[in-house]
Amino acid sequence: MEETLKESAPERSLNFLEEIVEADLASGKHKSILTRFPPEPNGYLHIGHAKSICLNFGLAKKYGGNTNLRFDDTNPTKEDVEYVDSIKEDVKWLGFNWAKELYASDYFEQLYVWAQELIRKGLAYVDNQTQEEIRLNRGTVNKAGINSPYRDRSPQENLDLFSEMRMGKYPDGEMVLRAKIDMSHPNMLMRDPILYRIIHAHHHRTADRWCIYPMYDYAHGQSDSLEGITHSICTLEFDVHRTLYDWFIEKLEIFPSKQFEFARLNLTYTVMSKRKLLELVKNGYVTGWDDPRMPTICGLRRRGYTPESIRMFADKVGVAKRDNIIDLSLLEWCVREDLNRRSNRYMVVLDPVKLVITNYPQEESELFTPALNPENTDAGNRSVPFSNELYIERDDFMEDPPKKYFRLRPGGEVRLKYSYIIKCEEVIKNSQGEITEIRCTYDPSSRPGTGEWRSVKGTIHWVSASHATEIDVNLFDRLFTNPEMDNLEEGKEYIDYLNPDSLKVVKGYAERALSSDNSGIAVQFERLGYFIKDTDSLDSKAVYNRTVGLKSTW
Ligand code: ATP
Ligand code: MG
Repeated sequence: MEETLKESAPERSLNFLEEIVEADLASGKHKSILTRFPPEPNGYLHIGHAKSICLNFGLAKKYGGNTNLRFDDTNPTKEDVEYVDSIKEDVKWLGFNWAKELYASDYFEQLYVWAQELIRKGLAYVDNQTQEEIRLNRGTVNKAGINSPYRDRSPQENLDLFSEMRMGKYPDGEMVLRAKIDMSHPNMLMRDPILYRIIHAHHHRTADRWCIYPMYDYAHGQSDSLEGITHSICTLEFDVHRTLYDWFIEKLEIFPSKQFEFARLNLTYTVMSKRKLLELVKNGYVTGWDDPRMPTICGLRRRGYTPESIRMFADKVGVAKRDNIIDLSLLEWCVREDLNRRSNRYMVVLDPVKLVITNYPQEESELFTPALNPENTDAGNRSVPFSNELYIERDDFMEDPPKKYFRLRPGGEVRLKYSYIIKCEEVIKNSQGEITEIRCTYDPSSRPGTGEWRSVKGTIHWVSASHATEIDVNLFDRLFTNPEMDNLEEGKEYIDYLNPDSLKVVKGYAERALSSDNSGIAVQFERLGYFIKDTDSLDSKAVYNRTVGLKSTW
C-alpha cells in the first residue's frame, strides 16, 4: 500500500459534492456557499466527526465560502458544556475556523412560532396518545398506519394545548406535537412525525425556560434554513429524512437549504458511536475520553497524531456514497508520513541489555552530533554522548541467530548508529542463564568522518548508560481485536472484543537530548517508532506514548 499511496495522482477528479457545488455556483443558484458542522454536544468528537469537519470546512474553503459551527443541542438530558468546550477545541486544533458559533437552542423561540404556523395551517396537531400507541399506530412498511383519534382537533384547540405544553401544564410523555402529513406514506418518517415532546429537564444553555423540546428532524432543517446554509451535508442514514427536511421548508416557505448525504467513516478495530465511547469511559475500560487508545480527536492528539495527518487521512478516504470500512492502517500510514517529514530523532532503548566496550577508556566519553531530523536540515543537530558502558536492545543480540540476522552475534560486528563499529567478544550470563552483559571491543578507526568508511551489515541504536535518562513508555495496541466491529459473532457484544493487551507499560533509557526537545510534536525513537511526551508526565519522570511503529506490524 505504501508505494501506491505515495504515487497517487496529484490531480484528483472532483468528488460528487464538489460537482454539485460547482454546478450550483455556475448556474447562479448560489453566489457563495455556506456549510455547517452540526455536532450534538453529548460526547467528544471522534475521527468520524473529523471526516465530516474536513469535508464541510474543506468544501467551503475550496469554493471561497464559509462554515458555521452549530451545536445541535435539542436533547437536554444528554448534553453538557463540557462537550461544547471540547468540540470547539478539537475543531480549532484540526485547523479550521468557523464563521459563526451557533446553537439550535437559540432558535427555540423561532421554531415554536413556526410550529404555531403549521398548526394554523392545519399541518400539525397535539396528540394525546401514549408513546406505545403512537408506535403501534404508525403501521409498518407494508401496512398503512392508523390516524390518531386526536388528529382532527381544530387549530385553535391545538394552539391552546401547545401553549399549555410550553407553560409546563403537563408531565413528560402526556402529549406531543405532530406534523399532519400522511399515515400511509411509504416513507415511515412522513407518517405524522413528532415535532415536540415534553421534557422537564434543565438545559445547559436555556436553563429551565423550556419544557418542550423540538425533535432532530424539526430542528435541523429549519436551523439550516435560518442560517442560509446552502449545502447541508450529513451521513447516509439521513437520506430517508430528506423528504421531511424538504417538507418543512416548503410548508414554512423559508430559505431552501438542501441536504446531501455521504457515507459515514467506519474504521477497522474501532467503535465510533458516542454511546459506546461513553460506556468505555464510564466503565473504566479506558482512562478517559482522551485515552490514547480512543478514536476521539483528543485521544488521537494525546497519542501524537497531528492535525496534518488527520486532514491527510480525511482527504485520502475521500467522499463515498456507499458505506464502507477503512483500514486503520491508512490512518497510521498518514501519521507516519507526516511525522517522518517533521519529527526529531532520538535514540531510546526500551528493553535494555548492558554492553561494555572493554578497549574504550573508562571515565572517558565523547560526543556525536547527528542531525535532529535527516529529512529537514533546518532542525539542526543534537549531542549524543558515548562511553564504555551502553545499553542496546535485548533483541539486537542473538547468541545463535538465524541466517539473515545482521545484528550483533558472538564474534560478529555491527555499527553503533552514528558511532563506531564494535565486535562481540564475550557474553556474561546470570545463574538463570539470562544475558546480563555483552562485552565488545570497538574499532577506533571506524569513527564516522575519520579515515575510510568501513561498512558492516547491521546498524543498531544505543544509549550511553551513565548519560541516559529513564523514561516510562506506553506501548499501545488496537483497542479491539475484531476488524469489523459492526459485524460481531452472535450473542457477543462489542465489549467482548476488547483487546486485553492494548496497553503495555515499559521503562526506557533515552539519550539525554530527548528531555530538551521542544518541537511540540511527536518524535521518532530511532528504529522503534514515533512517540509523544504524555500530558501526565512528571518533572521527575517523563512518560511517552507510542503514536505508531515505524512499519505496519499488522
Ligand atoms: P453518534 O452516532 O456517534 O452519536 P452522531 O452522528 O450522532 O454520532 P453528531 O454529533 O450528531 O454525532 O454528528 C455531527 C456530525 O458529524 C453529523 O453531521 C454527522 O453526520 C457527522 N458524523 C458523525 N459520525 C460520523 C462518521 N462516522 N463519519 C462521518 N461523519 C460523521
Ligand atoms: Mg446525530
